[in-house]
Amino acid sequence: MQPTQAKLHLGNLEGALRNWVRLQRDYEMFCCVVDWHALTTMVENTQEIYENSIGIATDYLAAGIDPETSVIFLQSQVKEHAELYLLFSMVTPLGWLERVPTYKEKRDSLEGSAEASHGLLGYPVLQAADILLYKPYGVPVGKDQVPHLELTREIARRFNYLFGETLPIIENVLSEIPVMMGTDGRKMSKSYDNAIYIADSEDETAKKIQTAYTDPLKIRKDDPGHPEGCSVFSLHRVYNAQHAATVEEECRAGARGCVQCKKECIEAVNGSLRAMRERRGELERDRGFVLRVLDEGRQKARAVAAETMKDVRSAMRLP
Ligand code: SF4
Repeated sequence: MQPTQAKLHLGNLEGALRNWVRLQRDYEMFCCVVDWHALTTMVENTQEIYENSIGIATDYLAAGIDPETSVIFLQSQVKEHAELYLLFSMVTPLGWLERVPTYKEKRDSLEGSAEASHGLLGYPVLQAADILLYKPYGVPVGKDQVPHLELTREIARRFNYLFGETLPIIENVLSEIPVMMGTDGRKMSKSYDNAIYIADSEDETAKKIQTAYTDPLKIRKDDPGHPEGCSVFSLHRVYNAQHAATVEEECRAGARGCVQCKKECIEAVNGSLRAMRERRGELERDRGFVLRVLDEGRQKARAVAAETMKDVRSAMRLP
């Protein structure tokens, strides 16, 4: 994950972290905070990137990523990422990168005289290096993220074609990932200012849910509602799963009011996150532990990355 913010929200938690925690039972996981990637949008605020990275690592640990079985590290602390990125840059045709939809979107969203950087164009090449450096079996993704990995496979295939079989063709480790609605009814995102964070207090969470977007056509308790577009119902579905069917039924039938519904939602969300938040608080007070985890992660990641680079240099007949 990119440290463009210092804390992760419930969309990140339910969309990725929970899945990683499950996967670490069956796979050796490399969980990287990709701080160099954050430079594509934060080159004028670089002073925030390191602290944000510590915050993200703290959330990884609070959510249950176990540093005894998984490797947690910062991308910039394993310089092999930069070397492999450079070598991949030489084998990746420019046209592949110019066609990436997210590049076009980001380039078109630049304001005024701002120009797209080489780093923005090369983002997928750095991503391929981040992945292939660990010669993984696969990458955990939701269905909508599958196209993002195709370029990594293309780069590996091209490298293998030019220099012999060296890199794996990675698999998509697919899982059902719920899309978490933000408090304004759009997808939960830091940039929309509609997110509930793991690090939020119970009071902050309650305030956000109390003012969250609900069905605008449901004004009185006995008005029939449309829970599918309601951000509170989206939270019920994840954090109050056993009762979500009842909430939906009562909402549609006009047998439930939004005030009571929000109250129950606040209890469910805060109850479900309580232990994780307590753990996060303990980790925040023990920054030394988080830094030690990152340092051990750096060492473990570097050991694997250095082996891959030996294979890559040897395949390319470089010293
Ligand atoms: S009753 Fe609940 S689910 Fe229905 S619109 Fe109100 S807050 Fe949303």
